[in-house]
Amino acid sequence: MPCSKIIATEQQLEEIVSRLAGEISSDLLHPDHCLAIVALEGAQTFATDLLEKLDCSIETKYIKAASYRQTHSTGKVTIQKDNMLIQKICGRDILLIDDIYDTGLTLCELLKWIDSCQPKSIRTCVLLEKQIEHIQNIRIDYLGMKVEDNFVVGYGLDFDGQFRNLPYLGILSEEILSRYNVSDNF
Ligand code: 5GP
Ligand code: MG
Repeated sequence: MPCSKIIATEQQLEEIVSRLAGEISSDLLHPDHCLAIVALEGAQTFATDLLEKLDCSIETKYIKAASYRQTHSTGKVTIQKDNMLIQKICGRDILLIDDIYDTGLTLCELLKWIDSCQPKSIRTCVLLEKQIEHIQNIRIDYLGMKVEDNFVVGYGLDFDGQFRNLPYLGILSEEILSRYNVSDNF
């Protein structure tokens, strides 16, 4: 097994996602006005399961954001901005879906960019929040669960493109990390 510890089993993830879908569904007064924006690539699995469980259909778009190299945040966030998306966001109720709130830099940059496109409102839905002192404090409207500060893989979350297809969430083992020669110095 690539993980030293499982932090959420397939069944626990299903329960979390169902709860979040229930909360979002009951708050969505005007699903037609809502646009879900999914931060790629880590949030794809979570968002697919979540959106499937909503009791109404909502328009969904994807945005690519990256800040991690192997197991560390580079501190620099790159967002692939899409001109078509700017027009879609204007005047809409946005539901931003991401995988992890870690330093908060990625969510902060995404929210800043979405806000510059003049939406009517923005809400955030995040599967995991790391229990660390965030660099940017972000309001999370719908949170799956809090986790300790470890590098997590599975359920869409990767390590260099690997382990996204694990059906559970787990802490990547030291053995695998050392095999990849991950150093703290970058
Ligand atoms: P932040 O900008 O908040 O530091 O990091 C957010 C992004 O970094 C997440 O959306 C995710 O893509 C990546 N990330 C942060 N922590 C982890 C982790 O433990 N595992 C994986 N696979 N990605 C992470
Ligand atoms: Mg991400």
